[in-house]
Order: sequence, then structure tokens, then C-alpha cells
Amino acid sequence: MLEIRNISKIYHKIKALDNISFQVGQGEFVSLVGASGAGKSTLIRLLLCEEKPTEGKIYVAGRDITKLKTNELPYYRRKIGVIFQDYKLLPHKTVFENISFALEVCEVDQKVIKERVPKILDLVGLTERAKNYPHELSGGEKQRVTIARALVHSPKILIADEPTGNLDPINTRDIIKILNRVNESGTLVLLATHNKEVVDKIKRRVISMKHGRIIGDQKIGRYVI
Ligand code: ADP
Repeated sequence: MLEIRNISKIYHKIKALDNISFQVGQGEFVSLVGASGAGKSTLIRLLLCEEKPTEGKIYVAGRDITKLKTNELPYYRRKIGVIFQDYKLLPHKTVFENISFALEVCEVDQKVIKERVPKILDLVGLTERAKNYPHELSGGEKQRVTIARALVHSPKILIADEPTGNLDPINTRDIIKILNRVNESGTLVLLATHNKEVVDKIKRRVISMKHGRIIGDQKIGRYVI
């Protein structure tokens, strides 16, 4: 499903990624761990085609995404769900509208929107909050809205970049539960984090990075760097 092949990224002599290679199959849940500066965000930017690698190839579903043309990018990005530490919600739209907006901009039929959004709200446990505005939500609820928004296009891959960075342990646990649920439905989940407790609890594959290199890849891993 996802193959990173000999990827390097150099920023003005700084080697952010140094000849990285790994593969992830459909349905896997991978935690990408490493201290700040290890290269996690750089790798995610390359996966989202926000930047090009200095060297190497990235295959998603068999296609080298480093070769995508500008007009192919919106379509590609729709197939990759992404959530970040900060929520980036639209403040003047309700929970329902924040999610439906992602479909409206793609001119999805209103009938489809009215069917799909409630299902996703249910998946993230926000049915009761559909009519609330972001400022009326807790941090954990806001993050659940971003997960819902990331799922509207039924992505094959969900990338979560430090999604629990601003959350307390209870909300963190809820977010990880939802990521597990998303993964159980067949979506590849790639979780970049430096939260040791979270990674140790998930008990799935762990890829460890340090100074732009992979220093560990364990099937049922723990956070060791
Ligand atoms: P992480 O997400 O694991 O904290 P990053 O990918 O942000 O790591 O950073 C990896 C390295 O690349 C760091 O040394 C960082 O300073 C450097 N780096 C990241 N982005 C840039 C950039 N746009 N310009 C210059 N250096 C960068």
C-alpha cells in the first residue's frame, strides 16, 4: 500500500531524512516515533506531496507520488486523511458543517452528504454535538471533529501527526480508541508521535527514527530510542 524507497531530504545542507526505506501494508497501524527533529514531520510533508524528496521514491497504491502533476494533487490528497496537533476547524461553522464542508467543496451531492456525515459523527462519538460550534467543544471533541473531517472521503490511509499533543490522558485514550476503530475498518493508520505512553499502549508496529534515519522497526513494538 505504502512504500518509502531510499528517501532523502536535504534542506540547505541539513539532512532531515537520510536514505529511509520501509513498506506498510493495507490495514496496518504504524507508530512513527522519535524525538523532536528526528524527521517525522518532514516525512509526512513528503507523503502529503507538500514537498518533493531530494532523492528516492514514494509509492502509494503502486503509484510514485513524487511524480504527481500539480493538477493531480487535490485528487491524491483526498485519498489521504490527515490530522494534526492543532485542529484547524472553521470557527463559524457547526460540527456538522465543518465535516460536510469538506464534501461540499468537492461538489458531493447533498443527499450523499446527509447520509455520510451522520455515520462519521457516530463513528467518532459526536452525534450529540452536531449543532455545536468549535468554541463550545473540549479539546478532545475538537480533535474528534478533525478525525471525522479526515474520514469523509473514505481514505485508504490516515496520517495522524502528533494528534494527542494538546490532550489530557483521558482524551488521548479516546482518540487512540477511535484511531484503532478506523484501522479495524481497513484503513492504514500512520501515527507520528513522541508520546511513549501512547505508543506502548497501542502494541502495534513501531518504526523509530533518529537524526533522519530509521533505527528500529518492530512488529509489536515499544517506544525505544
Ligand atoms: P520531527 O517532526 O521529528 O520533529 P522534522 O521533520 O521537523 O522532525 O525535522 C527534521 C530536521 O530537519 C530538523 O533538523 C529540522 O531542523 C530540519 N528541518 C525541517 N524542516 C526544515 C525546513 N523547512 N528548512 C530547514 N530545515 C528543516
